[in-house]
Amino acid sequence: MERNFRDGRGGKGGKLLIPALVIVVGLLFAFIFFSPQFERVSPVIKLKQNSSWNMREPLVIELSDNSNLTSYKVTFIDDKGEQILDEKVLSEKTPKLSLKVAPPKFETLYKGKAIKIKIEAVDDSKWVFLSGNTTEIIYNIAIDTKAPETIVLNNSRYIARGGSALVVVKVADDNLDNAYITFNDTVNFTLIPFYKPNYYAAIIAWDISIPFEDFKGVNLVATDKAGNKSIAKVPLYIQDFAVKNSNLNIPQSFIETVSTNVLEKMNEEVPADLTARFVKQNRTLRAENIATIKKVCMTNLPKESFSDFNINAFSRLQGSSTAAGFGERRHYYLNDTMIDEAWHLGLDWASVAHDNITISNGGDVIFKDYLGIYGNSIIVNHGLGIATIYAHTTSQFTNVGEKVTVNQKIATTGITGAVLGDHLHFGVLVQGIEVNPIEWMDPNWIKTRITDILTSSKAMMN
Ligand SMILES: [Zn+2]
Repeated sequence: MERNFRDGRGGKGGKLLIPALVIVVGLLFAFIFFSPQFERVSPVIKLKQNSSWNMREPLVIELSDNSNLTSYKVTFIDDKGEQILDEKVLSEKTPKLSLKVAPPKFETLYKGKAIKIKIEAVDDSKWVFLSGNTTEIIYNIAIDTKAPETIVLNNSRYIARGGSALVVVKVADDNLDNAYITFNDTVNFTLIPFYKPNYYAAIIAWDISIPFEDFKGVNLVATDKAGNKSIAKVPLYIQDFAVKNSNLNIPQSFIETVSTNVLEKMNEEVPADLTARFVKQNRTLRAENIATIKKVCMTNLPKESFSDFNINAFSRLQGSSTAAGFGERRHYYLNDTMIDEAWHLGLDWASVAHDNITISNGGDVIFKDYLGIYGNSIIVNHGLGIATIYAHTTSQFTNVGEKVTVNQKIATTGITGAVLGDHLHFGVLVQGIEVNPIEWMDPNWIKTRITDILTSSKAMMN
């Protein structure tokens, strides 16, 4: 990339002998120098396809200036000559401009491999003899019309609403920009490098809030820096989930004590109206807490390539009974009026008060804090985008950054957060989304849906 800033360095002082005149001229220069009308900052040019381009998509250009732009020009240059793609003199005050510039037209297929794009922009400064500051950038661009190679190598046969599945893919491109798995084109999952170069794996989730009939598909998407895009379908059989609806009468005392306390502990303003107070705790704060969980999990996704992934079936809190299941749709009533709804996204296990919580899989502690409706919570990262959350605890015996091992006691159960009685809320997270833990408590499910698929994928790569 070549840059030429023709923003001028004026001011050759003459040999003036009369001191008063020197001062006057000096002041005049100072006035011009510091006047906003005479600013010397050149326009800023940004080209999205600044190193490679497929010559099908328009060039995406952002121009900006600290005063106003007055004109711009975009020129295509190759070994045959030059072609102006776009140019304009701007009459309106334009500090910022987004351009989509169409590619040049050729009568036959363009065979060139390398071109230049010259972009010039001028601002309305009075500097440089009133002609404005000019920025000119010449980009050297490789022509790349080849879309990324995308192959879905292997995947779990099924995915259930609220559940998880594994996908193993190959993505290859010299200019790869981004590659991910998308569920319904709305929920995206990061690919984790797996075993050999250009191969990736991801455990994906069907967010319980997306109904069975709304399933549109799971795709591998890859884009390169030149703007080429490939999409490959992930073939999955889909299974529905029997949502359990439950109606809960919220005692006024719950809002006055628990909701109030949770909002105060999160430094939130407490609405005077009881319905508004409950909704703020149950809907607004819940959404914030879920976003925090998602962020913590996403920032701790593995970046290095992995070859093996082993995970034990998770076991329930010893001697406990299940107080609430995954995928319950809760309808909250205050004095016979429904005031809110929410999903219950984990398993609630109740035993004796302050019961010991030991974990079934080792990992890294990535979160230990008070988390609104979840109360004092711990999140343990098990790798490959899988983490578990332990919520409503009383005491914690580990810290962020520590490694925990199988059967280690990490906390005791409690009543912190938006709860009525002592229990453990156990949640399994796939790239930060709470999924059905029952799948991850079944050793046969883990073997057939996850670990066997990884093993057979490695065989396919050899
Ligand atoms: Zn719960």
